[in-house]
Amino acid sequence: MTLAEIRHWVFDMDGTLTLAVHDFPAIKRALGIPQEDDILRHLAALPEAESAAKHAWLLEHERELAVASTAAPGAVALIRALHDAGYRLGILTRNAHELALVTLAAIGVADCFHTEDILGRGEADPKPSPDGLLRLAARWGVAPERMLMVGDYHFDLECARAAGVHSALVNLPENPWPELTDWHARDCAELGRMAGVLV
Ligand SMILES: [Mg+2]
Repeated sequence: MTLAEIRHWVFDMDGTLTLAVHDFPAIKRALGIPQEDDILRHLAALPEAESAAKHAWLLEHERELAVASTAAPGAVALIRALHDAGYRLGILTRNAHELALVTLAAIGVADCFHTEDILGRGEADPKPSPDGLLRLAARWGVAPERMLMVGDYHFDLECARAAGVHSALVNLPENPWPELTDWHARDCAELGRMAGVLV
């Protein structure tokens, strides 16, 4: 299947549609999480009260980042072009659903997504689990192999592989994970040209 034949696209948000601003080492220091640990997995294993308090801190921290979001190169043009061409678009993020809405509004593409197609950490098991992609495939009534996952990190590529969805890596000049990647583009503008929706 060629990229131009895939009309169901799912995007990671932070670092893919927006410029990366999360300072994960600093977040881990602030929450007392070992640097080698995964933030969401670590919080999930804590006693309930401590987990809730740290999730609340994370949400507040991320809200400030969301309001100040800046679009990544080509991201808005690509989303608009896909939307105008009638593609079905989703978001799969380890961020929270409500902050995804804030972020997408801040960069001016919120109207291109159905709100129920925006899956945050409360709506699906976090990446690299394939759960979110499989939920969207079921919602959309489309086979996973007719979908594309676009991201900037190996979690995005791994969840695509696990779900049987095609993968595209953007916003990294070199590809550290070629074995997980079907298409590699410098940024969303280049990916749009590869897909034939941008010139
Ligand atoms: Mg990302």
